[in-house]
Amino acid sequence: MGNIMEKLELTAQSMYCKKVEELTPSELHLSLGKAVMGEIAPNWEASKAKHNNNRRAYYFSAEFLMGRMMYNNLYCLGILDDVKKLLKKKGVDINVFEDIDDAALGNGGLGRLAACYLDSAATQEVPLDGYGIRYKYGLFKQLIKDGYQVEVSDNWQRFEDPWCLRREDEAVLVSFKDQTVRAIPYDMAVIGCKTSNINTLRLWQAEAVNDFDFTAFNDTEYDKAVKEKNDAENITKVLYPNDNKYEGKVLRLKQQYFFCSASLQDIMRRYKAKHGNDFSYFAKENAIQLNDTHPVSCVPELVRLLMLENMNFDEAFEIARKTCAYTNHTVLGEALEKWPADLMTQVVPEIYHIICLIANKCQEELTAKGISEDMKAKMRIVDGNVVHMARLATYASTYVNGVAQLHTEILKDDVLKEWYQVYPERFQNKTNGITQRRWLGLCNPELAAMITDKVGSDEWLTDLSLISKLNESVNDTRTINKFNTIKKKKKVQLAEYIKKMDGYDVNPDTIFDIQVKRLHEYKRQLLNAFSIMTIYYRLKENKLKNWTPTTFIFGAKAAPGYARAKAIIKYINEIANLVNNDPDTKDLLQVYFISNYNVSYAEKIVVAADISEQTSTAGLEASGTGNMKFMLNGAVTLGTYDGANIEIAECAGEENEYIFGARVEDIEKLKAEGYDPKKLYDANPEIKRVVDTLIDGTFDDDGAQGEGSFKELHDSLLKDSSWQKADNYFLIYDLPLYVDAKIKANADYADRKAFGKKCLMNIANAGKFSSDRAIVEYAKEIWHVSHK
Ligand SMILES: *Cc1c(COP(=O)(O)O)cnc(C)c1O
Repeated sequence: MGNIMEKLELTAQSMYCKKVEELTPSELHLSLGKAVMGEIAPNWEASKAKHNNNRRAYYFSAEFLMGRMMYNNLYCLGILDDVKKLLKKKGVDINVFEDIDDAALGNGGLGRLAACYLDSAATQEVPLDGYGIRYKYGLFKQLIKDGYQVEVSDNWQRFEDPWCLRREDEAVLVSFKDQTVRAIPYDMAVIGCKTSNINTLRLWQAEAVNDFDFTAFNDTEYDKAVKEKNDAENITKVLYPNDNKYEGKVLRLKQQYFFCSASLQDIMRRYKAKHGNDFSYFAKENAIQLNDTHPVSCVPELVRLLMLENMNFDEAFEIARKTCAYTNHTVLGEALEKWPADLMTQVVPEIYHIICLIANKCQEELTAKGISEDMKAKMRIVDGNVVHMARLATYASTYVNGVAQLHTEILKDDVLKEWYQVYPERFQNKTNGITQRRWLGLCNPELAAMITDKVGSDEWLTDLSLISKLNESVNDTRTINKFNTIKKKKKVQLAEYIKKMDGYDVNPDTIFDIQVKRLHEYKRQLLNAFSIMTIYYRLKENKLKNWTPTTFIFGAKAAPGYARAKAIIKYINEIANLVNNDPDTKDLLQVYFISNYNVSYAEKIVVAADISEQTSTAGLEASGTGNMKFMLNGAVTLGTYDGANIEIAECAGEENEYIFGARVEDIEKLKAEGYDPKKLYDANPEIKRVVDTLIDGTFDDDGAQGEGSFKELHDSLLKDSSWQKADNYFLIYDLPLYVDAKIKANADYADRKAFGKKCLMNIANAGKFSSDRAIVEYAKEIWHVSHK
């Protein structure tokens, strides 16, 4: 990498006729990106050739939440510090790249997981390439105006994209009932750390076969002349902004089929170049991981493509089933994809026809196994007008996996229980992970240096199990003090960043209690808000002694169509407005809702937290990965027995977390008994007072005098509706337990040494939560491919 600066100078000159120091931030970004791409090209070529000669795996995902690429790529190449110094010599601050938007081609955890897995596969030399969609507009940007969320489109490509190469020569055609479009691949290099291996993320962009209709133009029908172009480009125009919610729109189905078909054609073309028309090696050479059901049309499409090669349906299906494996990410009913058959017929009739063949085959197989009619009915892939995508994915896969131990158990004895009974050998657990390179090395260099010092080398960057060496120092006062000093520094840095981004004055001498994640009822940001109001009233009435001043920080995007989620954002901002300005409490309690939470914001936030809020209703958060980012950076978890929180507490010791509330068994029992939140609310004046702030005029309810969106939230907690029970997420049950746990954590914080030890115990025992561990498990136990 010695001549990176020379390459940069040449690139700047040829692209802009400028010296490096004269470039604007976006010009510098493009030039340096191109220079880096030039440097890595030989390694990338060599890695591609190697993948081609061996069994390999593909990660199919509708989302890849990559975040900002520049710092990460320089970091993984081991040249971040050098480039920083060399730019500084030219009077350029490397922080200029903060002006470049994140690549936000994902909603939240699922998309970020895909990005962490690519990073880990590259570093662990797992032959894994990603396939996805190159959305023109990624996840919307969020502004907060008068306490409300406002969405702005995310035109991330306006900075151009030095990390992707357009491969016009490898374009393919994808056909729907009413249109045929070109799929153009854009290849992004995924750079490994401490290895020459470089993997590929291939993202497809939809374009018209004929950009422009001259006949129509000459007939002065200008709209018609560009119609085909617009109709084609619309397919990859925008990422659907729902997290954990299925959206049954024609365009969404087109997106899914579009990238599956293009990716499979690509894989088939490579295969045929090697083996001609003999497909007997296909499943031996290729493994495809389906990231949730979004890419499940991959199965019927692969069957279709193989049948075009003169294979019969049964042979083709056997190959498809042996090739695919499915990761389930959720147990929420509203998130499970159920496509209407008539909609599928209207968009991709051949695919629907093949799904019906698969569905029949499945029922025949179950009959042959002597499965009862009753159970067979529960396992219909096509049931009346509904296609159950999770059932299709389960039937048509070699393996099905959940993403944390508890989640996998729930799949086995609830969501997919019939399938587990018939095909138990298919079920596996693969607890999620995060890459320690981005989520510690890059975003917390101060803590990383301390860990390197304790471990004795920086080998933990590629083998996080080594971080357990830190266990030897958790009682050492100097180490604890050092950690506390670093944490303070990260809080000061976050306070500066919040000032710059949101204009708030955050006091770093307070506890930072942080909840950042997508806004969803099941994640229970509203429970956090209620706990803050409870504490606020106790403080005002002098009922809470020895409270250490605390800053509560929230960050969350609500899906634009999710009214309750938006109401919760407004409610939190109303609370902020009240407590931050109340002279009785403003020095004890501060609340801030930061805008546009994304990967780059996350990198600054997770390092600065003292307390990590993970409050989902037990059983509903499949894993969580935010929880792992906080743990790795030395925050204690204030959370429920849910998802990976359980494994986090197991690893770090439950005495080093604040676990509260109903467990899955308790929730089941409450449901069986007929949970009555109204009764708890009537019996507990403190709960009643806090919940009623939604309707009693404490806050401005959309100017609707207690009849607006806060009233709707209030009703959702206390009244059954036609589609949901009262307090479906058990906020009222958990609130008192949660407040107790929060106050306990606050009291414990005052003993800086004991609390520091808890934080260190979290860091030292975070080894399991590396996505390197997870990806090597997938490589060994699901894909059967090589690794480092
Ligand atoms: C890690 C991450 C998430 C997932 O957070 P959870 O708390 O696991 O839901 C969502 N968004 C961004 C930007 C992230 O970095």
